[in-house]
Amino acid sequence: MHALDAHELYRFFLIGDDETAALRGVSFQLSAGEIVALTGPSGSGKSTLLACVTGLDEPDGGHVEVGGMRLTRRSEPERTRFRAANFGILLQSGNLFGHLSVEQNVRLQMLLAAKPDEKRIGALLESVGLSHRARAFPTELSGGETARAGLAVALAADPPILVADEPTAEVDRDTESGLIEQFEARREAGLATLLATHSKALAQRADRIIRLRDGRIDGE
Ligand code: ADP
Ligand code: MG
Repeated sequence: MHALDAHELYRFFLIGDDETAALRGVSFQLSAGEIVALTGPSGSGKSTLLACVTGLDEPDGGHVEVGGMRLTRRSEPERTRFRAANFGILLQSGNLFGHLSVEQNVRLQMLLAAKPDEKRIGALLESVGLSHRARAFPTELSGGETARAGLAVALAADPPILVADEPTAEVDRDTESGLIEQFEARREAGLATLLATHSKALAQRADRIIRLRDGRIDGE
């Protein structure tokens, strides 16, 4: 059984009379202990695919299974519960609640996944190099700190599957290598990681690369 199994996903967007086929029959699997990099030009469907596999968006065709259970075409509350239990998600922005400190953001994510663990908060912030910024609010963080805080939130509940959309797009080299270390630690721990990325350094460290072009898989 795969950690994640995407079957023939389709997603269309209609704006006025213009239809964009963002996904046109995308299938792939992600196994435990694997890092998979999703690459492809801007507009090729990477973010749409990540949204569909995590249940943040519903595909127009096809379905997604997580740990052997179907995620697609369930009610919003069911998808939310399912997502909290199975996924850590790092989006390109909007990963932190602005009225909560870094530490409170991490704690909230643990509570949502019903995995409160006060000791883990400190260890997690230390592992992303943010111990000294635990009480800072999102507006007080630099770009690199924001990315690392977002990662701490995504990792808060030690999720079986981490999904990250361009996690290293706006960070310096040191931060990038710190993030890569986190992903590799997940591989060691037998957890699955799916990354959309333009970074060659990051894609090279993946076990497998899936290339998207115009909503289709162009190569693996
Ligand atoms: P990528 O992440 O690879 O840059 P996206 O998944 O964001 O690509 O976009 C794939 C295609 O779908 C693009 O043509 C984009 O304009 C379109 N698209 C994505 N989201 C929406 C949306 N919410 N409404 C309309 N079109 C969208
Ligand atoms: Mg994108």
